[in-house]
Order: sequence, then structure tokens, then C-alpha cells
Amino acid sequence: MVVLVTGGASGIGLATARAFAREGARVVVAGRSRESLDLAVAAVREEGGEAMALPCDVRSEEQVERLVSQTVSAYGRLDIAFNNAGVSLVGSLSEFSAAEWDEVVSTNLTGTFLLMRAEINHMRENGGGVIVNNASNAAHMTLPLLAAYSASKAAVLSLTRAAAREFIVQDIRINAISPGPVDTPMWAHRPDETPEDRRERMAAASPSGRVGTPEEVADMVLWLASPAAAYIAGHDLVVDGAMSS
Ligand code: NAD
Repeated sequence: MVVLVTGGASGIGLATARAFAREGARVVVAGRSRESLDLAVAAVREEGGEAMALPCDVRSEEQVERLVSQTVSAYGRLDIAFNNAGVSLVGSLSEFSAAEWDEVVSTNLTGTFLLMRAEINHMRENGGGVIVNNASNAAHMTLPLLAAYSASKAAVLSLTRAAAREFIVQDIRINAISPGPVDTPMWAHRPDETPEDRRERMAAASPSGRVGTPEEVADMVLWLASPAAAYIAGHDLVVDGAMSS
């Protein structure tokens, strides 16, 4: 089993890469920084799986095409892709710059499109595969100061459903996952907030009274990618402790 995880150097991506490695997968960990990718690959190998780092900025068409072709050259195939790389920029829409908008949309939405296109073109020649796109419960509800992020993730869901319908005939199962608040480096950018304060604030937003863990999301990605979910396609699995219900 060959698995590609983008944004695999940290947070949910790293937890998912480790979980696939525990299942014996060969895992390609993709991301922007060579240094953090090397650390991530060492952590994934500790789980007993085989792993390789491939630098890739998912906003670049050329780099994404290269990522998938290098994966196939190195490991012979691509069975499962977790399109997880994403960014969130917080701010009022009235003050959001066009450059900030572009950064969010080009990473979260265009990146997912570019990855899916390259992955599908390989998988359809290879007899099928599984794709899981990381959306967010912010696609289902409004959250303060996250309009661009929410819009980009809602579009990821729409893209997921459309592609699922088109490619199921070629045995490519495409689904999304929508986590609620998970304490990862994504939210660690407020200089005025300690990690404890951050966790408390995020937990208070969820009716469950706690944040999710990267491992809880990873487990659901593995389930969606498994034969147990063989008849599930075009679905969005919300993992948010009822926050968006
Ligand atoms: P994270 O910051 O640890 O992970 C995001 C990863 O994406 C990082 O490794 C980052 O370097 C990488 N990345 C960003 N831009 C990239 C680019 N252009 N090219 C390649 N890699 C890039 O945070 P996370 O919470 O683990 O986020 C993973 C995914 O989960 C994101 O898509 C995020 O939107 C989604 N998500 C997170 C939460 C949460 O509360 N943490 C909730 C819902 C959805």
C-alpha cells in the first residue's frame, strides 16, 4: 500500500502518516520545508513503515505533477492520497487583502484540485485508488474571522462530491473529512496566547468541551481509505464532537 500525505510534516498530516505506517504502508510525506519533512519521515519510520520525504508546494502545478510522478517512480504506484495541506488566515473580510485571499484559496482549493488531477490520472491507469480531502467543519458553519478559509473549504467539499461522482466508475473513491478544532501548529500563531489558553478557547467552542486530537482525525482517514468504506464515495465525514450540528 502506497500512501501520499501532503502537509505531512505536522499536525493531522503527520499523525495520519504515522497511522498509515503502523498499518505497514509505504508513505510519501510531502510539504514545503525539507528540514521538517526529514524530521517527520524519521517519526513515520519509527512506526515501522517505509517513508520518504518529497518537498512540494501544493500551489505549484509543476511541483504537484512532479510529486505524484516521483511517488510512482519511487514506490511503483499510488493507492491512497490524503490531500491535507492547508492554511488558515484569520481576519475580517473588510480588511482582508487580495494577497491573503489568494494564499488561502490557492493552497486549500487550487492545491486540492491540482493534487486530485495528478492523482486521478495515475490511479485511473492503475485500476483505482482512494482520495481523502481534508476540508473542515468551517465548511458547514460560520466561525468568526474565517470567511476566506470557510469559503475555500466549502469549495473543497463541492469539488470532492463532483469528482467522486465522475471517477467512481474507474474505481477511484473520493471522500472528504471535516475536522472540528484540533490543536495543531495551524492555530499557534497568536503571540498573545499561551498553548493552554489556546486549547481552552478552542475547547470552549465545541459542545464536547474539548478539542479533537490529530490521532482521532487520522483514524477516520484510515477508515475512509479502508475496504470497510468500500461503498462510501462523495461523502464528508465530520469529526467535530457535534460542534457544527
Ligand atoms: P498544520 O499547520 O500542522 O498542517 C498544515 C500543513 O500544511 C503544514 O505542514 C504546512 O506546512 C502545510 N502546508 C501549508 N501550505 C502548504 C503548501 N502551499 N504546500 C505544501 N504544504 C503546505 O495544521 P493542521 O491542523 O494539521 O492542518 C491540516 C489540515 O487540517 C488543513 O487542511 C486544515 O485546514 C485542516 N483542518 C484543521 C483543523 C484544526 O483545527 N487544526 C480543523 C479543520 C480542518
